[in-house]
Parts: sequence; structure tokens; C-alpha cells
Amino acid sequence: MMHYTGRAFRPPFEENSLLLQVSTGCSHNKCAFCSMYRDEPFAPSPMEDVESDIKFIGRNRTLFKRVFLVGGDPFVLPFERLKRIGELINEHIPRIEVIGCYATIPSILRKTPEQLRELAKLGYSNLNIGLESGLDDVLSFMNKGFTVAEAREALLRLNDAGISYTLNLIHGVAGAGRGLENALADAAIVNEVQPKLIIVTVLYVTWCEELAALVERGEFTPATLREDIEEEMAFLRATDLTDTFFFGMHEVCPVRVNGFLPADRDFLVGELEASLARFPEHQLDSPIRELRQA
Ligand code: SF4
Repeated sequence: MMHYTGRAFRPPFEENSLLLQVSTGCSHNKCAFCSMYRDEPFAPSPMEDVESDIKFIGRNRTLFKRVFLVGGDPFVLPFERLKRIGELINEHIPRIEVIGCYATIPSILRKTPEQLRELAKLGYSNLNIGLESGLDDVLSFMNKGFTVAEAREALLRLNDAGISYTLNLIHGVAGAGRGLENALADAAIVNEVQPKLIIVTVLYVTWCEELAALVERGEFTPATLREDIEEEMAFLRATDLTDTFFFGMHEVCPVRVNGFLPADRDFLVGELEASLARFPEHQLDSPIRELRQA
């Protein structure tokens, strides 16, 4: 029997991955817009449980080729523990080709370049990272716990180690009137680090009480639907990527598009532009939380 406890989230592209619990909660747990693990303190799973689960899967055979380590930030686990988990997976479930997980920027920076290379050899790849914005003041306001320079350093370190990753960006995260500025800042960093996959979502004030309270106190003004769509168009136009899949199909996206960059960029921008004509003016000029309630 496998050990599962607490809430388990996984990115959309891990739907065919084996879920292996190695931690609960998020080690950071402070982002202003996120309530995913608010009531669940971070804790590593007991190593004997992890080992027993890996051996259980190995004994029972599996067709899975990918494993996704469960938890808000399993990459924060010490290098030696991640290494041991990787070794056990390789030994007992040799079909597994990729070991993915959520990772924060600080958790990557805590690993040396040599350690990252060693983890890459064990199969660690497809890390899912919440960058959210390329603007320092936005990262700070949203309590992300890192700067743009630190993100750049961490992502370039992953590139050097040969560990691929997904970057998550949030349109509207900079608030009303700052969509274009945020789009250009997002594009600047992704152009530099060249992620293989970008997932975009749109900020909903309803995601978290803390964010709703900031709005209530007048400390954050949410962007409108029009601004969110225009931000995505501006971001796509400013990208200079060589081989990236752009996934804008998350269920929270008001207009769902996806495609390869740079090949599909004009098509994606065209789809978003056309969508502006499909929404009534009052919806376009409303924050997206009101849209959802409509
Ligand atoms: S967004 Fe990610 S890092 Fe931030 S609190 Fe939520 S799970 Fe943790």
C-alpha cells in the first residue's frame, strides 16, 4: 500500500506520471496569491515510507515512464535525500526515465552546480517552477521570496546542468495599468533562459484571502480582462524563443490558446486579438474575479 497524506497537486503535463509522495506542504507557503498549502505545514515524508513505496511500485511493475514527486516544493529537500530517492527509483523502477517535481528558485540555488549535474544524471528533469513575474517589486509584493536576478541565476544553473523546466507566469500579477510592463519583463527573462515549456495563468483575486484583503484595503488593484488579454499578446510579441511550447490552456484562462514558439506566435496573437471582439465591453473592463462570478 502506498503512503499518501495531505493535498496533492500536479501540473497539467504530469497527468500520466506516477505520483510519489516525498513531502507534504510547501516550504515557502507565503505567496500572497496562493492558498494551496496554507493549512498544511511543510514536512519531508519519512524516508522509510518513500523507500517502501518505491519498492512496492517496483514489485508490482508499472507502465509509467515518469514519476512526479508530490509536495509544494520537494526540490527543497537536501541534496543527499534527493539523490537517495533518485537512486532508489533507478534501482527498483528502471522504466522511469524522468523524475519531476515542483521547485522554487531558492531550493535550486541551495544546490551546487555539481549537485545539480548529479541529480540530472539520476533523471531529475521537468522541474515546475513558479516565476510568476519578471518584475522585482511584484515578486516582493507577492512574497515570492526571490529576486529576478536570483531566478536568472537558478535557471541558468539548471540549463548548465541539463535539467529542463517549466516556467509558470501569471498575467495580471502586477495589477491594473502594469500589464505591458510586466509582459516585457517576463519576455526579457524567458528570452534569456529559453525554457522548454511556459504555462500561463491569470490572477484571480478569489484565489486567496490574503490577496482579497490587499484589494479590500486598496493596496492592490486587479487588472481588467482586457488588460490580461493584452498582456498575453504583448508578452508573445516580445518573445524571442527558439523552441518553447506555450501553454495558455489552464482552466482559469479566459481565452485558451497554445502553440509552439516561435512558429505559432502570430497565430496565437491573432486568436487573442480576435477574442477581444467576443467579450462585451463591460466584461472587458471588469477585473476577472467579477467575470467569474457573473
Ligand atoms: S505559489 Fe508555490 S511557492 Fe508560493 S506558496 Fe504556493 S506552492 Fe508555495
